[in-house]
Amino acid sequence: MKNFNYHQSTKVLFGRGRVGELAKVVLAYGKKALLVTTPASVPALQQQYDKVKKILTEKGIEIAHYDGVIPNPTVETITAGAKMARSFKAEVIIGLGGGSSMDAAKAISVEATHEGTSWDYLFYKTPQPDPSKLIPVIVVSTTSGTGSQVTQVAVVTNPIVRDKSALYNNILYPQVCIVDPELMISVPKFVTATTGFDVLCHAFESTINPGTGAYVDLLAWEAISIVAGNLPELIGDLNNIEAREKMAWADTLAGLCIANAGVTLPHGMGMAIGGMYPHVAHGEALAIVYPAFADFTWEAAIPQFARLGSILNPELRRVTEKEAASKCPAEIVRFLKAIGLNKKLKDVNMPINEIDALAKQCIVLPDYKGNPRVATEEEMIGLVRQSY
Ligand code: NAD
Repeated sequence: MKNFNYHQSTKVLFGRGRVGELAKVVLAYGKKALLVTTPASVPALQQQYDKVKKILTEKGIEIAHYDGVIPNPTVETITAGAKMARSFKAEVIIGLGGGSSMDAAKAISVEATHEGTSWDYLFYKTPQPDPSKLIPVIVVSTTSGTGSQVTQVAVVTNPIVRDKSALYNNILYPQVCIVDPELMISVPKFVTATTGFDVLCHAFESTINPGTGAYVDLLAWEAISIVAGNLPELIGDLNNIEAREKMAWADTLAGLCIANAGVTLPHGMGMAIGGMYPHVAHGEALAIVYPAFADFTWEAAIPQFARLGSILNPELRRVTEKEAASKCPAEIVRFLKAIGLNKKLKDVNMPINEIDALAKQCIVLPDYKGNPRVATEEEMIGLVRQSY
């Protein structure tokens, strides 16, 4: 067996109604909590925020609500939240929402307690944040999802340099996460599709990343099977609580996978797309590049592509492994059609004259180097062109 490492320090509270335990969780860390969310753009979010505030205030927890997080949170978003955390003297930070709010909570904890901005603490910069200074972070996930509730990652976008990058450090694992599927019922169809596809991507890329191992493999294939078996159905019935619950579980499993193995080429490309075109949702960017990535990569990871292909279409269990792998890219496209995400870069208004610039950006993050077939600069231009 291949040697592997596995680490996870976030306590997970999983299940319907578990948000009711938030006050008890928070009180272990303090009585002054900064609540970090996106704005209440729809009534369902307002109701969710009111419910959480009631749970907290009933137990005497004082709250400052920073509701300025935007999807693909920017450096500026984090700075405004950090300012509020400092002036309020927050003892604990609660990230309530999807990946954007949970990541913002982690980055705010860093910026509120360190010199400079969150951008100064990206994974490749020094010094890294001092763990003894951080404000404890608790997260409550409301999408399924980015897995951020169980990762050491906080993704931040810098619109000035058109770059999307990440803080990445084991001290950024949330102390506790609550994964309550009842909070996910209100997630609209598009967000359900994009975040659900992100789960599949996290899990699959973990299986082809050199950092994978027996533990990650176990979690990843379970997550992939759950997404394949539940996401299309959920898209057809957004109120299906059983499917929401399964997706929340798959999301958590896939988060554990990326925290321990990591993503590959599509995520590097997706991050570059998000950095240059922040209006494109994270999972949407992944959906756009996945067919080109699969065509480019399948021959270098035949067992994994064959297994994915056979999960997406059980008929492929009857053919040879190589044939199943070769048909996997077409099965991915079929799956994307089923969840309404069969898109190209031109559909999200990327200017055609930026293909080369985007390809250059796709090799800024090291993710592409973890792909079983490593793209040259020329090949990356081809991948972007195919995705256009
Ligand atoms: P998101 O957090 O940006 O949310 C998308 C939209 O859905 C927002 O408008 C939000 O208000 C809304 N929303 C969230 N929950 C809702 C609910 N229950 N009901 C109604 N509306 C709801 O989306 P996301 O895809 O979860 O997060 C994307 C961000 O996470 C990106 O910045 C991405 O790069 C990052 N990410 C982080 C990690 C990590 O490990 N930290 C991993 C993958 C992606």
